[in-house]
Parts: sequence; C-alpha cells; structure tokens
Amino acid sequence: MTLIDGKALFSNIKNGLSLQVASMVSDGRRPPHLAAILVGDNPASKTYVNAKVKACKEIGFNSTVIEYPENVSQSELLSKIEEINHSNNIDGLIVQLPLPNHIDENVVTHSIHHYKDVDGFHPINIGRMVLGLPCYIPATPLGIISLLKEYKIDTSGKKCLVIGRSHIVGTPISILMSRNNSIGNATVTLAHSKTKNLSALTLGADIIIVAMGVPSFLKSDMVKEGVVIIDVGIHRVKSDHTKSGFKLVGDVDYDDVKHKASYITPVPGGVGPMTIASLLTNTLQSAKKMIYSHT
Ligand code: NAD
Repeated sequence: MTLIDGKALFSNIKNGLSLQVASMVSDGRRPPHLAAILVGDNPASKTYVNAKVKACKEIGFNSTVIEYPENVSQSELLSKIEEINHSNNIDGLIVQLPLPNHIDENVVTHSIHHYKDVDGFHPINIGRMVLGLPCYIPATPLGIISLLKEYKIDTSGKKCLVIGRSHIVGTPISILMSRNNSIGNATVTLAHSKTKNLSALTLGADIIIVAMGVPSFLKSDMVKEGVVIIDVGIHRVKSDHTKSGFKLVGDVDYDDVKHKASYITPVPGGVGPMTIASLLTNTLQSAKKMIYSHT
C-alpha cells in the first residue's frame, strides 16, 4: 500500500508558488491577492479560512478576510462581491460555504466574476471545464487530479467510481476522470444517495473517489484488492485516544481499508491540503492573467 501524501505535495506546490511570487515582486508587480468572505461563526468554516490565510502568508500572497455576522443580508453580500469584482488589487475571491439558510448559495457564488472565481464554482468555469477549455477547475477536484498525476496512477481504461454528486466535488471530478486526458480516460460511474446496491459498484471499481459526507462509510469488504482510494470526506468525531477528545476521519474507514488498497489518501493530510494548493494555484493564474486576459 502506498500512502498518497497530500501534505508533502502541498508543501512542494507552495515552494514552487513562492518562487513565482518572488519573481513577480522582483519584476515590480504586486503579489497575488486572495479575498475570502466568511459569514457567521461556524467553527469549521473559520478553520478552513484560517488555513487558507496561513498558506497565503507562507508563500507571500496578500490575503483579506471579510467577516459578516450570521444575519447579514444577501444584498449586502452581493454589493461587497460587486465591489471586489471591480477591484484591481484582488485577483481571487471565495465565499466560504455553507452560508446561512436565508442566503441563496448559488446566487452568491455565481455573482463572483468568473475571472476571479478561483474556487471554480461559476457556471462559466464549470461549462468551460466540461468543454475542456481553459478555466478555473474547482479546487478539490483539481487537487485530486494533481495527486493522481504526482503518484503516476494510471487511470486510462480503469473503472472509476465516484460516490457523491455535489457541484463542488463529485460532479466535476466525475467529468474530469472521463476526459480524454493523461489523468482521465477512465470509465466513470457516479453514485449518489439513490444508487441501489452500492457494494456491487464499489467491488468492481479500480479507483474509488468518495465524497459523500458519511464518516468511515467505505469498509474493506466493499472493495477489491489493489483498489486506489481517494477520500474527500472530512469529519470531526469523538475519540478516546486523543488529548482533545476528537479526531478527524474521512468517508473511508482508513485502518480497515488500507490493507487492500494499492494507493490511499489519509484524512487528514490527503485531499484537504490539496484543495488549498489548487486555490493558491488558481489565484496565481488569475494574478498572471493566464486563464482570462481581463484588464
Ligand atoms: P455533499 O455533502 O454536498 O453531498 C453528499 C453527496 O453524497 C450527495 O450527492 C449524496 O447523493 C451522496 N450520498 C450521501 N449518502 C450516500 C449514500 N449512502 N450512498 C451514495 N451516495 C450518498 O457533498 P460534498 O460537499 O462534496 O462533501 C462531501 C464530503 O467531503 C464532506 O464530508 C465534506 O466535508 C468533504 N469535503 C472535503 C473537502 C476537502 O477539501 N477535503 C472539500 C469539500 C468537501
């Protein structure tokens, strides 16, 4: 079994990005700038935003966090987004999800201009991804592709099962895995909550990408020997074995499944850091106008 080390790849990607930032600055340009909007007091959202800000600092990006209380109105958020859309100093904007129930996530995330949409959620970016055109690929799926590339995992002609059809992970990764590309060319099945007899699908799969949001769901008796496992899930669960009384687990029962897998991502330290790596990469591409030549 080979552990797919997302933390190590994240560190390499950060080194590469900081060299590029240093070169931009020595050419007299300002560093890339990522802005994040954070609504309410959700501790997980705060942790994610803090991790993104920390990574920006480490590589020399500028970052701004705009915080709003839980009861902020949708129109206030939209006017802030409009302001940032027109700012010459900000290259990338993300809105940390989830948002409170009175706010329509689609309306808010789709109001970010597609050339600052470094999370890759805007319909223009999703549409261009489907067509194989230059775009910001959603951060988590891009992170998964980078891991498969780094570990030279052969995906061509393989049976790839994606579990979960969210707009931010399951659906886009299912499209990317079926593209005619070096990481791609897989025969993809997309399973979801209405799928019947999921075990028959998991047992037949060469590669399983799990993004379903159910802690430790995938067990060893559900997979075949030599399977490649990518675990996107992340959950804080109670534990008697840690000082804090909690630990992080994925959608895969890692200790149970690892013996059967040829490659497997751990939680934490697998896909999670790669989501941040992709966000930073997309932001640098925006600052350098590599995808869209906006002014
Ligand atoms: P989601 O929570 O929006 O949706 C879950 C999906 O799983 C749905 O499409 C549903 O149909 C499917 N599903 C649920 N139960 C199922 C079952 N029993 N059988 C088959 N399918 C089932 O999905 P999401 O936003 O992609 O999040 C999934 C998990 O990934 C969560 O734990 C989330 O916290 C985590 N996540 C991690 C990262 C990261 O960077 N590591 C990024 C995004 C999401």
